[in-house]
Amino acid sequence: MVVGNHRNAQILISESAVQHNIRQERKRLKDSDSLFVVVKANGYGHGAVNIAKIAEQAGADGFCVAILDEALELREAGIEKPLLVLGLTDVQYSSIMAEKNISVTISSLEWLKEADALLEHQGLPKLNVHVGLDTGMGRIGFQTKEEFSEVVDYLKSSPNLNFEGVYTHFSKADSKDEEYFNLQVERFNDLISVIDTLPKYVHVSNSATSLWHASCNGNMIRFGVATYGLNPSGGELKEPFDLKPAMSLTSEVIYCKKIEAGRAVGYGATYVAPAAEWIGTVPLGYADGIVRKLQGFKLLVNGKFCPIVGRICMDQLMIRLDEPVPVGTKVTIVGQDGGENISLQDIATYCDTIHYEVACLFTNRLPRIIV
Ligand code: PLP
Repeated sequence: MVVGNHRNAQILISESAVQHNIRQERKRLKDSDSLFVVVKANGYGHGAVNIAKIAEQAGADGFCVAILDEALELREAGIEKPLLVLGLTDVQYSSIMAEKNISVTISSLEWLKEADALLEHQGLPKLNVHVGLDTGMGRIGFQTKEEFSEVVDYLKSSPNLNFEGVYTHFSKADSKDEEYFNLQVERFNDLISVIDTLPKYVHVSNSATSLWHASCNGNMIRFGVATYGLNPSGGELKEPFDLKPAMSLTSEVIYCKKIEAGRAVGYGATYVAPAAEWIGTVPLGYADGIVRKLQGFKLLVNGKFCPIVGRICMDQLMIRLDEPVPVGTKVTIVGQDGGENISLQDIATYCDTIHYEVACLFTNRLPRIIV
């Protein structure tokens, strides 16, 4: 997708906010703990390479991604720190991973056997393997001690594979109700009790776990959404330190006009002005990730909230203004203007979703600018 560099519509990423969030979290960890920043899905929509570079300076020890291509993007950008792919990768790519020192998550013994055969006599460094354990997420990973110990035995005997890590993922670490979380912790401890020597990395913590259940961090954390200054619980739990949101989204009024009572706005003519009104057009639409469900949501112009009226188009949307404004007047979709603020959580609440999804849906047509 082409990046809209010749349009006034952009995502601004605050470098100091990302640094603050990582540094504050780093202070809460032991020196020997590793902090891996999760930059999958283009750094939750913030820009993976830029976030990784900022995070490195702030003390990140490595990075997690979801798919191999995301790891390759980081390597190509010159990131040399450890990289872990959290999703499952087709075994045919095991050589690339070994060659580029990208750690793999595995969920089956057959995968290991095939990778072992593919890597044999290739003269590559050992492939670093993290074994996924399913303690209740129901997504990927081994569920029984028997399977886990068989895999560990296999790893130990292989000249091509290195047992680098073991981990699980919690599904309810962001909730006041801790019962299911505790059940997962119990299952994890029980599963890893079958091995006598732990690998280099033992990790269970996403942001929520590290923020609210740090005692079970293991020796590495996978710090995702909190890097970007977002509360993983969406507000149910209070963050233990001040998280600073990194993302703002701004644009401008590109056209401003008065319409008479009875005139309609947008496709389907669903909005009809009840009285004469000032309408501003903003060059953003659902092709940028401003979903149609946001009709009625209020954006900020000159520190005042102005509702989106009519259906959101692919590339443009219209807002109702209190008064005429000059073309070029700033419009804030996410961020602060005057004394007011619009958060990703506000958008998520309006759309009945989570801020993770809102951030990821902003498309690459929007440039990401570091400020
Ligand atoms: N670990 C795994 C396995 C994940 O899938 C994710 C994100 O979905 C994370 C860590 C990071 O989670 P969060 O962004 O909530 O910190």
